[in-house]
Amino acid sequence: MNYFPVFFNLAGQRVLVVGGGEVALRKVSLLERTGALITLVAPDIVPELRERASRAGLELMCREFLPADLDGARLVIVATARRATNRWIAKLCEARAIPVNVVDDREASRFIVPAIIDRDPVLVAISTGGTSPVLARRLRERLEALIPQRFGELAVWLRTLRQGAMERLRDSAERRRFFETLIDGAAARRFIAGDRRGAERAAQQLLGTTSSGAPAVGDVTLVGAGPGDPELLTLKALRALQDADVILHDRLVSSGVLELARRDATRICVGKSAGAASTAQREINDALIEHARAGRRVVRLKGGDPFIFGRGGEELEALARAGIPFSVVPGITAAAGCAAYAGIPLTHRDHAHSVSFVTGHADKNGAEPDWAALAGASHTAVFYMGVARLEHIISRLLAHGAPATRPAAVIAHGTTLEQRVITATLGTLKEACAEARLESPALLVVGDVVGLQPALAWFNAEAAMDGVLQIA
Ligand code: SAH
Repeated sequence: MNYFPVFFNLAGQRVLVVGGGEVALRKVSLLERTGALITLVAPDIVPELRERASRAGLELMCREFLPADLDGARLVIVATARRATNRWIAKLCEARAIPVNVVDDREASRFIVPAIIDRDPVLVAISTGGTSPVLARRLRERLEALIPQRFGELAVWLRTLRQGAMERLRDSAERRRFFETLIDGAAARRFIAGDRRGAERAAQQLLGTTSSGAPAVGDVTLVGAGPGDPELLTLKALRALQDADVILHDRLVSSGVLELARRDATRICVGKSAGAASTAQREINDALIEHARAGRRVVRLKGGDPFIFGRGGEELEALARAGIPFSVVPGITAAAGCAAYAGIPLTHRDHAHSVSFVTGHADKNGAEPDWAALAGASHTAVFYMGVARLEHIISRLLAHGAPATRPAAVIAHGTTLEQRVITATLGTLKEACAEARLESPALLVVGDVVGLQPALAWFNAEAAMDGVLQIA
């Protein structure tokens, strides 16, 4: 991060603006709203600025800049038409450690001014780190459309409810939940729609029921994080991540997904990557129960879908035994995600009428899957955690009648920018994989549908980048 985001309280502070043109006018218009004491220095000053000078808080000096103008300035904005002058002034500021912005000259600037979405007192500031003002503007347009006009008034109204919440609610967790319910529910909706009375009524009612009800108990939401691409999260998963007090996640969960979680949530990695030391299942169960009993909202975040080779069932059984309330948010399982991003339809009227999700590990008792069924024609078999046992799986399928020409693929890091797809046949896959040195996580897909992959492949890093750029 090249820039540290802050909001600067300038009320009563001296701000120097050097330059008297249109750009300076725009800066002054914004600065005026902060209550800053603005001094503007320029030999030529546009008429609009001169008109404003009658107002308190803006002093005009109709002359060239002098170094002494910097005395007492908390912030300096430089916007003369001469680049060399701008840079000289910036240098003087630097020497005095006064934060300076030179308009359209990022290199000479100590701070840059973001694009803003203005719902005063709510401000959304956007910075591209000076890389692309156009991108910032496009993003701004999108956010403008998303954030209701009354958002700022809503914030002011919410502040008026703070006192009542302080007096009547038990602790900060309860207050936070009260405000979340308020903001997510009817009260805020009415307010945004312009019905202040209705909003106030709904808020007071909620305050009453919250304060007289039993203290909130914690709960656990088992959330599927999908296979890697954060955009494959469900809306419910995003909400759960935003509301969580504690998040216990597997190592398989991508950092892009974790980025979307509430910043203040405690994040605990409970391991589970093949081979490496990981927290025992018992300890995970105990931790879930303990956090929930302490009244926290716990998210148990798992790669893919929690009920597909995710031990979600075992964890819920433990929660049920302990009497902890829980819910489940499904996720896109690796088979669905990887198949989609590799261009392999798992079923197809001409090639496969059924699909199996199989674990490559033998089960607890060493029992093997039904190889004959998996080897059958018109069937797609997807093996999770199977790449270490590739040789065994291939030999079992061949022994149960699958032809060596049957198409098969390995997809590693599916749905991410590191995705790699190796397609071959049962006869040639082992060699192809050895050559490609694929890393886990990887998935094995066996069946005639894999034959469609060359024609249906669509996703690659380039395509993904196109997706990113569509924001612009
Ligand atoms: N609950 C998860 C599966 C957990 S088992 C789900 O529904 O997807 C872990 C296995 O999933 C890995 O060994 C690998 O076979 C597969 N897997 C998970 N994410 C993957 C990805 N992005 N690419 C390829 N395989 C993946």
